[in-house]
Amino acid sequence: MARVYNFSAGPSVLPEVVLKEAAEEMMDYRGTGMSVMEMSHRSKAYDTIIKEAEQDLRDLMDIPDNYKVLFLQGGASQQFAAIPMNLMKNGVADYIITGQWAKKAYEEAKKYGKVNAIASSADKTFSYIPDCSDLPVSEDADYVYICHNNTIYGTAYHTLPNTKGKILVADMSSDILSQPVNVSDYGLIYFGVQKNVGPAGVVVVIIREDLIRDDVMPFTPTMLKYKTQADNDSLYNTPPCYGIYICGKVFKWVKEMGGLTAMKAHNEKKAAILYDFLDSSKLFKGTVVKEDRSLMNVPFVTGNEELDAKFVKEATAAGFVNLKGHRTVGGMRASIYNAMPIEGVEKLVEFMKAFEEANS
Ligand SMILES: *Cc1c(COP(=O)(O)O)cnc(C)c1O
Repeated sequence: MARVYNFSAGPSVLPEVVLKEAAEEMMDYRGTGMSVMEMSHRSKAYDTIIKEAEQDLRDLMDIPDNYKVLFLQGGASQQFAAIPMNLMKNGVADYIITGQWAKKAYEEAKKYGKVNAIASSADKTFSYIPDCSDLPVSEDADYVYICHNNTIYGTAYHTLPNTKGKILVADMSSDILSQPVNVSDYGLIYFGVQKNVGPAGVVVVIIREDLIRDDVMPFTPTMLKYKTQADNDSLYNTPPCYGIYICGKVFKWVKEMGGLTAMKAHNEKKAAILYDFLDSSKLFKGTVVKEDRSLMNVPFVTGNEELDAKFVKEATAAGFVNLKGHRTVGGMRASIYNAMPIEGVEKLVEFMKAFEEANS
């Protein structure tokens, strides 16, 4: 078995213990004589799986009782439409554009109402987070929308926007469970799980109960109405059963690692190894404003496209894979999610140092 150091932005590295446990349970899940894949979503065994997954997530994030947790399908992108359909009462929402995912959500929301881009960092290729302390929040905005960690550009909010009393909605697909979150600061948090939690195909929505309404936009598909999903405990139809089962194992793993405070310390330590090197290197440079750096996605360049390509090629051969930057930005990006071990980052930096010496 040859495992690589996988720096993919998503789907991405999962804890090895989780993969091993899933392998052990593949043919016979705890005496049921079948795989979780083969099991009714209404069975007793599955009921335990999904309920434990929810409880473990609640414990980890300290989710207040007046929030529902929904395990849904359609990925994060489906929520770009579900959010305005469910949350717009006045038909108005404000978006902060800090990258491609925020922009996509904004473009989708425009189909459903009057949507304002109240701040953007597009002027400098999304290399920073705009000052959000005094934004022109619309008086009748139903919510203010952010992408909490910008997977492609490698920026993250370290201070939340001042929404002037409006509901905050956040896409946390690429930094969920990487650090503690004060759930009460938000009306709705959602994340596609394939970055930090599990296999693609599951999206989790954490929503304050009073925002779950029956009078959503009349054309809202039954499946996209949060009330349908909340009333049926995410079992209105067949959920992505196997994916949720793996998410549940990852939640237990994060608990064993010490929860979100410990995870944050672990992630800060890993990120510092890479950022400190980038700050001292003569060849490699980070592309993001220091104060807004992400703990999860670290983009960097040499300033020379040919050298970038050479680096990616040699790194791949050495077992450091998926370091190529997003197709829209080029350069390199190391995604160092929860499950990336510290040795992975240490060894990557050693490799970068050797590459720098050989190429300067
Ligand atoms: C990957 C990603 C998405 C898109 O997720 P899908 O599940 O593929 O729709 C959305 N937002 C962020 C922040 C992401 O990192």
